[in-house]
Amino acid sequence: QYNLETEKDPVVIVISTTGTGDPPDTARKFVKKIQDTTLLPDHFAHLQYGLLGLGDSEYTFFCNGGKTVDRRLQELGAQHFYDTGLADDCVGLELVVDPWIDGLWLALKEVFLLQKEKEGMSSDVDAVSSSLSAAPHVVHELNLSSEVQNLKLEDGGVRNSDVLTQKLVDINLVGSVGDTEPSLVHSVPPVSQSALNIPALPPEYIEVQFQDTHGENPHLSSLISEGTTFEVPVTKAVQLTSEDAIKTALLLELDIADTVFDYQPGDAFCVICPNNVNEVEELLQILGLTEKGDYFVCVKVKQGTKKKGATHPQHIPERSTLKFILTWCLELRAIPKKAFLRALVECTSDAVEKRRLQELCSRQGASDYTRFIRESNVCLLDLLHAFPSCKPSLNLLIEHLPKLQARSYSVSSSNLYQPGKLWFVFNIVEFPACPTRAVSWKGVCTGWLAELVAPLLHPNKNTLDTKGGNPSTEKVCIFARPNNTFHLPGDPSVPFMMVGPGTGISPFIGFLQHRQKLREEHTDWEFGETWLFFGCRHQHRDYLFKQLKCFLENGTLTHLKVCFSRDSSTAEVAPPKYVQDAIRLYAKEVARILLKEGGYFYVCGDKKHMADGVSDAVVDIISMEMEVDKLEAMKVLAMLREAKRYLQDVWS
Ligand code: FAD
Repeated sequence: QYNLETEKDPVVIVISTTGTGDPPDTARKFVKKIQDTTLLPDHFAHLQYGLLGLGDSEYTFFCNGGKTVDRRLQELGAQHFYDTGLADDCVGLELVVDPWIDGLWLALKEVFLLQKEKEGMSSDVDAVSSSLSAAPHVVHELNLSSEVQNLKLEDGGVRNSDVLTQKLVDINLVGSVGDTEPSLVHSVPPVSQSALNIPALPPEYIEVQFQDTHGENPHLSSLISEGTTFEVPVTKAVQLTSEDAIKTALLLELDIADTVFDYQPGDAFCVICPNNVNEVEELLQILGLTEKGDYFVCVKVKQGTKKKGATHPQHIPERSTLKFILTWCLELRAIPKKAFLRALVECTSDAVEKRRLQELCSRQGASDYTRFIRESNVCLLDLLHAFPSCKPSLNLLIEHLPKLQARSYSVSSSNLYQPGKLWFVFNIVEFPACPTRAVSWKGVCTGWLAELVAPLLHPNKNTLDTKGGNPSTEKVCIFARPNNTFHLPGDPSVPFMMVGPGTGISPFIGFLQHRQKLREEHTDWEFGETWLFFGCRHQHRDYLFKQLKCFLENGTLTHLKVCFSRDSSTAEVAPPKYVQDAIRLYAKEVARILLKEGGYFYVCGDKKHMADGVSDAVVDIISMEMEVDKLEAMKVLAMLREAKRYLQDVWS
């Protein structure tokens, strides 16, 4: 739509990061284009831009999509008209996004004014100003590192009209008498006694009409824009952990034989999952809509809405039942954003509850929001329990709850080894009860899958034997999430090392199955050595794949190193606890394979602690073996990553 080659107006770029620091699919073509090395350093000299990167600092390459574009545009002569913002989902995107957007209006205004002046049309600036009059009065200097201080929550309207100078609420009304500790529902001074700066009420833009109960809900495939979906039966479910293990890991087998779904070992795929049925029922009840659950709802953009650029949310069908929307379309467990809290204030009748909701979305209550909403993982249902007089309308939920995302899983099998069968492995995610929630919860997808396959989990069937498989009526809807790099080396003679503790072992089972089959089929090929570092808590509770020994015995796996972090040992020299400790013991081999033999190094599993621990160990090994300082060693590791020989597939 825009031709950056000639664009004279300021350009705003908002870009997320995916995979291993890659730009999102929709930006790939663009990034590739600007990375063309034949472009001259003044290629974008005419361009002024502001960039907002969205990322998660728990991943190694934080905001790398944004950083890559920013760096390259700078190299090509483009100018910032506004400071780059890098928002971190780990602490809350809004901490940077909100002030960044606020400051953007002023920056745009300035750039337009300057442009007009240059064009000698300074008399026309009033028109520009008035076109921006809806913009907030912003803090002039935006210092993104002290974003909380700079949070400017008023949005639209005249500056001071949004400042609510409220009658001080008697704190005894907010919590139990004598309660001096703040909580989700209770505030203490100074917040409880402050005048509050609260955000402007977001304009409503969705209209829902209840129809009748006739018709059919859309197919789940219509919810997905990323490609073809496949509805496939679950043919096997195996519990890989013992009953006394801390986490429960399940392996599921899907029958993909009758589909064109294809994958390579190392790929991940997505499972479309519903919200928990009890939570949906509870929400219907709180909203007073239990009777309407099976009614079809027509969702439209409200005529004459003040919301700029309001469009029909892509993840909501134009016509489907209320239950369908709450079950398949909206992430009910999402942490409510401040704008949502602001909207909920208007649906709350009790004055004390109202005040607390105002506090939680106000500038003065920013740290309460972080502590009692974000860090406590509070969701809509928790709020509705805590603030019983809050009765939001359905359109508000549709406006503010994000899309229920499909969950990704790494394939744990090889199509060559077991054609038509796809394995994957997951831990059932469990959240214990807490002050804001009386009951424990399971993860949306893993909890649902566990319940779905419970009938298949008969103890006698608890085997990984690939033959047979139970005819099952349970089906799941999946679609591909191809991974372009986390694959076996193209040349089978190249050696490689795999590091996969816990469920991180999953893709490596696929690698090994594949490798075993290749070895059987091509006896004349040369195969490089293979190493696997696996770790778990206890040898007898969560050693997910004892069958690894078979790969070792038949030569598919050359070295298997396993460590147990919670088993006590009587050995004189304590054995390594974690995979990163085990890797350090084999420093010479790691250095030989990575630095001398052009080998590959794969890491899969827990994104923060394990993946960082492993890369630290590898940096130390490189530094020691090459006799270079740590900085040099980090550069070598960066080169290995760049060459796609140090590969990570990590998740939380
Ligand atoms: P959710 O309900 O989505 O909850 C998960 C997260 O939400 C928690 O970890 C936590 O951060 C947060 N959360 C939500 N509510 C609370 C609360 N009340 N208290 C505390 N925290 C809360 N997983 C595997 O097990 N195996 C795999 O092979 C695998 N492969 C993956 C591959 C890729 C490329 C990616 C991106 C992810 C992969 N994952 C894998 C992770 C998987 O996609 C899911 O995130 C995971 O299974 C949890 O999904 P869920 O819906 O059950 O949990």
